[in-house]
Amino acid sequence: MDLTFTDTEQAFRADARSWLDANVPRPALPSGDTRQGFALHKEWERALFDARWAVVSWPEEYGGRDASLMEWLIFEEEYYRASAPQRVTQNGIFLLAPTLFELGTKEQQDRILPKMASAEETWCQGWSEPNAGSDLAGIKSRAVRDEAGGGWRLSGQKTWTTRGAFCDRMFGLFRSDLEAERHHGLTYFLVDLHADGVTVRPVERLDGDEGFAEVFLEDVFVPDDDVLGAVNEGWRVAMATTGSERGLTLRSPGRFMAAAARLAELYRAHADDADPTVRDAVVRAWIDADAYRWQTFWTVTRLMDGERTGPEASLVKIFWSELDVRLHETALRLLGERAELVDGDDAAWMKGWEFSLSGPIYAGTNEIQRNVVAERVLGLPRR
Ligand SMILES: Cc1cc2nc3c(=O)[nH]c(=O)nc-3n(C[C@H](O)[C@H](O)[C@H](O)COP(=O)(O)OP(=O)(O)OC[C@H]3O[C@@H](n4cnc5c(N)ncnc54)[C@H](O)[C@@H]3O)c2cc1C
Repeated sequence: MDLTFTDTEQAFRADARSWLDANVPRPALPSGDTRQGFALHKEWERALFDARWAVVSWPEEYGGRDASLMEWLIFEEEYYRASAPQRVTQNGIFLLAPTLFELGTKEQQDRILPKMASAEETWCQGWSEPNAGSDLAGIKSRAVRDEAGGGWRLSGQKTWTTRGAFCDRMFGLFRSDLEAERHHGLTYFLVDLHADGVTVRPVERLDGDEGFAEVFLEDVFVPDDDVLGAVNEGWRVAMATTGSERGLTLRSPGRFMAAAARLAELYRAHADDADPTVRDAVVRAWIDADAYRWQTFWTVTRLMDGERTGPEASLVKIFWSELDVRLHETALRLLGERAELVDGDDAAWMKGWEFSLSGPIYAGTNEIQRNVVAERVLGLPRR
């Protein structure tokens, strides 16, 4: 592994930095998980797309720059360094798109990817159901064949759908063969949330944002063109998505490096009255963020050599989610009772801490990831 950046990579970084410095909205946009914030974030995503910074690693024909994975990581570092807005296109561009590139038809790619990248169509993930979260294979939502219409009829309920209250489309798993055993008989569908029979009900979060949703489907028609991968092979298709989500694309190191840098600044501002043990926690957050960066370079080097991510993606997910909680806890310790102020420059730390608490839950809980590590990385027996 070569740890130096090439001249091309350095030039790419400089380009990204100068565009972001000139264009990132100031003051920061309101949360993208609120209705008003979501609309403003879509405008920002459109500006990114127009300047071809929205999906740098995608082919040019879909609005990308054909950038390497290493350049994508560099862009992410610059994006977070500039404190640019959260990506409300995230579930589309980072979770669905890699699966579309791998398993979608050319017609699906041409039809879906450009609108996804420009935020003209926003996507949410419809996997979890009221009785199927960790046990995803236990989903009950059904897909019944509609021969006459040339498609399927979907019924059931999805829950915890991030930004589902605002998105246009949802990718999700449905049971298409009721006789088949759990992981078999599932199909991966791309669903129009504006179609007849869809009801979206917002679920307000602890922090007051209202983008979370429950999605109810009653006999919703989905054409055959919106089946991703083969019928009854949805589990395999879905697993292609989880590898990207946990191991690389969902939370790139740039996010934690930028947070650790802000934490160090906060420490400098409050060092005089800080408990001395806080300094160790700040240093640890910095080191952990940097360690995650180098670990990710290793992952990307392997992927660029044609290898695939495996169960070690679970180790990565445990690492970044626990690092995020510790980092934000340290910030709250530094702020003391000022952490509870809802306005002002430091208010973002409390909101960040509240959200960090969900990291060990979403993208598969850390208990489940530890089971995966025990069985599939360490080779321990199931019982
Ligand atoms: C912020 C946030 C955003 C989310 N966004 C989405 C989204 O966009 N789309 C979507 O589909 N879902 C989303 N989810 C849902 C998320 O994927 C589920 O919450 C998660 O998979 C856990 O499922 P559950 O809530 O049903 O908990 P359960 O599966 O009921 O688990 C409850 C507890 O039991 C533990 N547990 C369960 N089984 C085992 C086991 N075998 N071994 C050890 N411990 C176990 C779990 O670790 C957990 O602590 C989101 C969740 C959060 C918090």
